[in-house]
Amino acid sequence: MAEVVLEHVMKNYGSLYAVNDVSFTVNDGEFVALVGPSGCGKTTTLNLIAGLLPISGGDIAIGNRVVNDLDPKDRDIAMVFQNYALYPNKTVFSNLAFPLQMRKLPKAEIASKVAEAARILDITHLLERKPRELSGGQQQRVALGRALVRDPLVFLMDEPLSNLDAKLRVQMRSEIKRFHHNLGATIIYVTHDQLEAVTMADKMAVMNGGFLQQYDTPAQVFANPVNMFVASFVGSPAMSLISLQAVSRGTEVVLQSAEGWELPLSPANARKALSSTTKNVVLGARHSTLKLHKMQVSGSVPGKIYTVEPTGDVTFAQVFIAEAVVNISVDPSVHLSPDEPVWIEFDQERVHLFDAETTSALT
Ligand code: ATP
Repeated sequence: MAEVVLEHVMKNYGSLYAVNDVSFTVNDGEFVALVGPSGCGKTTTLNLIAGLLPISGGDIAIGNRVVNDLDPKDRDIAMVFQNYALYPNKTVFSNLAFPLQMRKLPKAEIASKVAEAARILDITHLLERKPRELSGGQQQRVALGRALVRDPLVFLMDEPLSNLDAKLRVQMRSEIKRFHHNLGATIIYVTHDQLEAVTMADKMAVMNGGFLQQYDTPAQVFANPVNMFVASFVGSPAMSLISLQAVSRGTEVVLQSAEGWELPLSPANARKALSSTTKNVVLGARHSTLKLHKMQVSGSVPGKIYTVEPTGDVTFAQVFIAEAVVNISVDPSVHLSPDEPVWIEFDQERVHLFDAETTSALT
């Protein structure tokens, strides 16, 4: 079983905690993305699992074996890096064969394992070429192949697509997904690109400031972000966040803006808003859950168009509401101009409420 378990893992450099009390379990055969902004600790976490760095505290187990004190070569893992790390003077065949020759496998077995990896990755026709005679995508496939021939318990990948152009990234994204699907491999994949994580992974570990913020399926993270950081990091365009005040009006609860407008809340949202530690509440809404009107309708709040970005199938309008810029997707046939007054309707079933003090989701 290629399960990977992190329990209270720490890594500090003096007073800087690059990884702070991180715990999660990667089940056998799962594809998990470690995702977060630059400096959040995702590469450090991967390197701790690989054994390239010693942990400062906690435990890491791979395949039911605690590996805290094992060298990388004894952990039964294979790494794929963003710079591919291919040997420039060796052919593709020799690049793939090298880790097996190091293990002193018989020649015939090496040839058969290389042929199988080349077949899976569709690089059989490239086996006699040198890396410089390959495109970026082909080099990336060879790097995957070199990990594959080792038949490891776990594949660890550090931003493997970041050196490719945008189109090739999208193509290799589906190739790596197929690779995972066909092999049933356990993969831990570092990326700063939330879209890569959402589209590829079974689960995502969202990190910030060394802490694990949320560990769940992309669908759950998207639908139920645990705090404002996750809400604004996952999803594109980002979830819009508006700072408001919860005010009780008899039996009703409304969210009041500094400008004076009020948004009455449904009973379920009223209960959440009142559970905030202070009256300060942040309203979150994804672009696709908002409706834009050119005239005031019941329950809508006033805003003003900031910019309009047509993308072809959909147009994104950015609207100023209560000192926040809110993203809304509208049909491309709707004509909008900067500074035009508009009214925004919220879907009460699909808004998110956050405690402005703790930044946690109100549930
Ligand atoms: P990026 O996407 O930019 O690679 P990351 O999320 O992978 O970022 P890490 O490389 O894991 O981030 O770094 C986490 C934190 O630890 C950062 O603040 C970084 O500056 C710090 N750090 C990493 N390595 C060292 C080191 N050897 N000495 C001191 N601080 C370090």
